[in-house]
Amino acid sequence: MATPANPLSDIHSAIGADEKPHADAFAAALLAWYDRHARKLPWRIPPKQSKSGVRPDPYRVWLSEIMLQQTQVATVRDYYEKFLDNWPSVEALAAAETEDVMKAWAGLGYYSRARNLNKCADEVASQHGSRFPKTADELRQLPGIGDYTAAAIAAIAFGEPVAVVDGNVERIIARQYRIETPLPAAKAEIRQLLTPLVPNERPGDFAQAMMDLGATLCSPKKPACSLCPVSEGCQAFKAGDAERFPRKAAKAEKPVRQGAVFVIRNGKDAVWLVKRPDSGLLGGMSALPGTDWSARKDGLTGEPALPFEGDWRKVGGVRHTFTHFHLQLEVWETDMTGAPPFKGWWSAPETLQTEALPTVMKKAIAAALPEAFRK
Ligand code: SF4
Repeated sequence: MATPANPLSDIHSAIGADEKPHADAFAAALLAWYDRHARKLPWRIPPKQSKSGVRPDPYRVWLSEIMLQQTQVATVRDYYEKFLDNWPSVEALAAAETEDVMKAWAGLGYYSRARNLNKCADEVASQHGSRFPKTADELRQLPGIGDYTAAAIAAIAFGEPVAVVDGNVERIIARQYRIETPLPAAKAEIRQLLTPLVPNERPGDFAQAMMDLGATLCSPKKPACSLCPVSEGCQAFKAGDAERFPRKAAKAEKPVRQGAVFVIRNGKDAVWLVKRPDSGLLGGMSALPGTDWSARKDGLTGEPALPFEGDWRKVGGVRHTFTHFHLQLEVWETDMTGAPPFKGWWSAPETLQTEALPTVMKKAIAAALPEAFRK
């Protein structure tokens, strides 16, 4: 990639005094780069078509943006294709059973997103005639759509010139302006500085160009500033300290919670599963029965409260990290005839793969049945 020529020198010193020409230059340089280097993504309309007025299906933009929250593009691709195969339109998704949506989502994490997908599709189908509202303000009223997603859909699918701020964009703007305020306190300042840079023409491509710049050149470590289309106005580049930005408030250490799960087998390889309560962490997902997850520091001592008498064996442990805590689970196993004295169902080896099991539960089952999730 060659460094494109652009007229961005001293852009930021002039912003405020005469903002528009510099904002125009920033957008022009960024979009020219995007026209050549846009990532090819299954939910994206390439810049050539976008410039000629082709707009993406808002349903696809919404679906991809919900999936991309906290999740890498490479992971999302397969899930996105699978969802479109199963539910090609918002009406189809609105008609889907929540259980089936949870199963298709299993492994993507942050399961409240899947529950909200269903609710949002329902609301779009029933309240909006199966058409997504067109502005960020209206979109924000829908279940599971926050500031970022509302702005992304409005800009990309409907051409609204709004600031779309995700983690990548925060990094770029924090570096462009050498913002010393740490995140998250800097969020409002970042939005304020980005807003005048958003062009009225091609705001959706501008948003996607910012995302691509952050995902490729303006990386957290060792940004490729020599290839960057907006380096001339970048204060951190000039100062040679891009990696110092964005500044971040010191994070509190995550607490560790502990508990136990029970792999109950029916003598063969079927496993007893239960459904977690609909609300709360991993709400509505399938799971192994288990204890509560306690924050106590001493760990489990001896046997946990086993759910019934039997020949219990401790077969291992798993560790999993959630947003706000680490979880350490002991995995206990037993065989039984009949059924456990609580609600659930037997899942045979061939159906385990299709259960709505979150990753932590798959890890725990694999501790007892190493073959369970091998393809
Ligand atoms: Fe990021 Fe470097 Fe470009 Fe500045 S010049 S926006 S630090 S890649």
